[in-house]
Amino acid sequence: MMKIANYINGEWVEPKITEYLDVINPGTGEVEARTPLCGRDDIDQAARAASQAFETWRKVPAQDRIQYLFKLKFLLEDNLDEISRTITLECGKTLEESRAEMRRAIENVEVACGIPMMSKGEISEDIAPGIDEIMLRQPVGVCATVAPFNFPGMIPFWYLPYVLATGNTYVLKPSERVPMTMMVIYRLLDQLGLPKGVVNMVHGGKDAVDGILDHPAIRAVTFVGSTSTAKYIYRRSAENGKRVQAQGGAKNPVIILPDADMEMATRIIADSAFGCAGQRCLAVSWAVTVGEARSSFMEMICDAAATRKVGYGLDDGVQMGPVITSSRKARVEQLIGKGISDGASVPVDGRNTKIQGYENGAFVRPTILADVNPGSEIHRTEIFGPVLSLMHANTLDEAIALANAGQYGNQASLFTSSGAAARKFRSEVQAGNIGINIGVAAPMAFFPFSGWKDSFFGDNHGQAMDAVEFFTQKKVVVERWPKDWSRQF
Ligand code: NAD
Repeated sequence: MMKIANYINGEWVEPKITEYLDVINPGTGEVEARTPLCGRDDIDQAARAASQAFETWRKVPAQDRIQYLFKLKFLLEDNLDEISRTITLECGKTLEESRAEMRRAIENVEVACGIPMMSKGEISEDIAPGIDEIMLRQPVGVCATVAPFNFPGMIPFWYLPYVLATGNTYVLKPSERVPMTMMVIYRLLDQLGLPKGVVNMVHGGKDAVDGILDHPAIRAVTFVGSTSTAKYIYRRSAENGKRVQAQGGAKNPVIILPDADMEMATRIIADSAFGCAGQRCLAVSWAVTVGEARSSFMEMICDAAATRKVGYGLDDGVQMGPVITSSRKARVEQLIGKGISDGASVPVDGRNTKIQGYENGAFVRPTILADVNPGSEIHRTEIFGPVLSLMHANTLDEAIALANAGQYGNQASLFTSSGAAARKFRSEVQAGNIGINIGVAAPMAFFPFSGWKDSFFGDNHGQAMDAVEFFTQKKVVVERWPKDWSRQF
């Protein structure tokens, strides 16, 4: 079993508690590690270390700070196999999906290496005779991240590289269900030779989170997780005067027009809906066919769902792993049942899945629910499992209205060969990430990871220039240097 410890002030530190949560491999049901459920004392220790380190780290020139990130990029690449394997062990996704996740993490390290350019200030000369005005960007102080279970390697990297490059210091609290991946990554961070206290990590659940939200030394909080937790984090951080951005849940629609390339659309939508067992915040979870698209798409997507190879993520040829826990499996199955009792049919039913050799795994096969009623519970609720609901509309306008009726706004996709339809959709649909003939419209690291409505609370998002905005505070200086105050040369 991997030992899970906190990393504080450049040392591996024993937690100050005795309560632990088992980390269960979702494919085998075996215990892989035990997460210490740390509390305020451990957070306080980490926040103090980060606060002290901030005083010197903020003064290190940006071009020197990013040298650590260049080293980190190569360490992550050299250790990609071990990190990816660890993601699969604790999170269940396939090894290929774990590798793809880490490529996205590394991409953020690469972009943050551009901080000397991205965080430059501004100057206006002679705003009045002999007076200049300057805008500087300065780091905000200690920043903390509270992360979810579904991308244990990638999501902390929406923040960590930018935090360090902009001169802040950091406290990470990984999801208590998947603490192992960041243990492997912090061992690499430990090799970088960063000054003590610049990066810290404390494990735990709600008590550790509350410790972060209430700690006076922590100036900015980034969160990714469910909408109910996001609202709580946003409110409590704001009450305590902190900067905060909180990414929430999702229920992403895809619209399929009759002029779409149906084969391509089906392949991409199946990958989006069932990849990572549907546990991606950018997974499409309901599809609206327009006009004649209905029958061909229905037939092809049912075939794609029924033939997807489900199994243990480390085994060759597996296309989809388990959901994160057996209780999540039970919840997904209960929601499928609710959808059926609310009037949907189930042409492909993934309930009661057993995988030979992995009888204790939390597997749910891909499921298709057809003729789902708009507004029904299954239509409104984030399932976070491999379930695709099908609905139908007569026109694109009707389909867009359906897409816009939901509470979430993380992503919306359209499949079509019409530029005019794509343009209308892009303009009118209420979501922060848009896919046109794309199933998972995940922004590259040099674009913000957007999100609207109940999928995001805050102003600046993660990644790219939004991260620079979020992790720096602006200072405006108005300067006059009268001639006779200085020596004449
Ligand atoms: P979660 O909200 O249960 O947990 C996320 C984090 O919050 C964990 O670190 C957990 O310890 C902490 N937490 C949980 N309950 C808390 C509470 N009551 N008080 C304080 N802290 C608490 O989310 P999850 O199940 O780990 O992740 C899945 C969710 O994350 C889904 O809803 C998914 O859509 C969302 N997600 C969103 C994005 C995005 O970019 N919008 C990305 C990934 C995941």
